This record gives sequence, structure tokens and C-alpha cells, in this order.
Amino acid sequence: MKCHKVIDRLSAWLDGELNDAERAAVAGHIEVCPDCRRELDRLVADRELLSSASPAEEPPFLAARVLSEIRAGQRRPAHGLLRRVLVPIAAALLIAVSIGAGTMLGAGLARKATDSSEFVTNADDQALETYASLAGGE
Ligand SMILES: [Zn+2]
Repeated sequence: MKCHKVIDRLSAWLDGELNDAERAAVAGHIEVCPDCRRELDRLVADRELLSSASPAEEPPFLAARVLSEIRAGQRRPAHGLLRRVLVPIAAALLIAVSIGAGTMLGAGLARKATDSSEFVTNADDQALETYASLAGGE
């Protein structure tokens, strides 16, 4: 049996869960393979450490505190209230800002259009003057 197969079966071997043939193969391999013997020793040491450790104790009244936090959270309607009140307000604000921005943008465009038509008029006048001066030979 190869080392990785032995290592895979060490835990089952310790628990007596292998059939006769597998048990004999693992035992025979461990006799001759120092690496797998070391792995077996480590596994045995880990198990002893686990069995000697006392089970973790929960802090006093942990369950009661968790349950009371859950109940307090259920009583607080903050989340639903936020959704019912703040979302429509945010939507109304967004619409108002959009209308305001649209109005300002429209006014700005209208002013710009007026300015540029004056510019065009001025440019036309200048062009005419230039043309007239050139044509007049001045
Ligand atoms: Zn081995």
C-alpha cells in the first residue's frame, strides 16, 4: 500500500473501521515506513489533545441576549419606515432638481443662442465693412 493511501486510512484504522485486509496492509506499512509512523503519532497526539480539551463554554445568558436582540430588531420598523418615507422624498427631490437643472440649462442655451446671433450680426457687419472698404479701394 502506498503512503498516501495509508495516510488516508489512518483515522479509520484507529477507529477500527477497516476490513481485515486493509487493517493488515496499514499495520504492515506502518511497521516499515517512518513517515507514515510519524503521521500516525501526530494523529494520535491530535486526538489526545482534542479529547483532553474541555468543551468551550458559552458566555452566560448568550442565548437569551441573542434572542432579545432579534426581537428588538423585529420591533424596530426603521427599515420599512425608511423605505416608505425616504424613497418618495428622494424621488421628489430628484425630479425637482432635474426640472431646475433643465430650466437653467434651457435658459442658458437661449441666452447663448441670442449672444451668438448678435455675434453673427456683428460679424456680418464687419465683413460688409471690410468688403465695402476693399471694393471702394480705400
Ligand atoms: Zn508510508
